[in-house]
Amino acid sequence: MLDAYRFAREAGCLEGRLALLDFRRLLDVLARTDGWVDYRLSGVTGDQGQARLRLQVTGRLLLVCQRCLGAAAYDLRIDRLLELAPEGSAPTQEEMEDDNVDILPLDGALAVDALVEDEVLLSLPIAPRHAECALPAAAAGDARANPFAALVALKHR
Ligand SMILES: [Zn+2]
Repeated sequence: MLDAYRFAREAGCLEGRLALLDFRRLLDVLARTDGWVDYRLSGVTGDQGQARLRLQVTGRLLLVCQRCLGAAAYDLRIDRLLELAPEGSAPTQEEMEDDNVDILPLDGALAVDALVEDEVLLSLPIAPRHAECALPAAAAGDARANPFAALVALKHR
């Protein structure tokens, strides 16, 4: 847990590696759960004195291809700027117009591993697929027709 406002004010820097197995919410979309992601969190102060965090995450995930249900490699390249704001506070006009910054509602301490998992989940494609999937076109049609059934089948295997 991190005192994020202070971390931002003091231009802190934190680097680490997190095992995929610790990401409970991410496990559902992974074809393989070994491996890890590397992250780097830095504290930044905005032009108007805003407390911000820059989060960078890299790593290689194996997602479930929605056509053939095989493992499809996906390289994470996350680089996000997050502005800390008390929970429930309304964003200013300026903040809403700035596409480069997202608001991170936060009171109290920040769970860094949960933040990394949130950002990884947000960055994933909705329907991951091999760029060149080996599955024949006819069978691919079936998988596309009902990707959720295919996922359920996979989970119960
Ligand atoms: Zn595929």
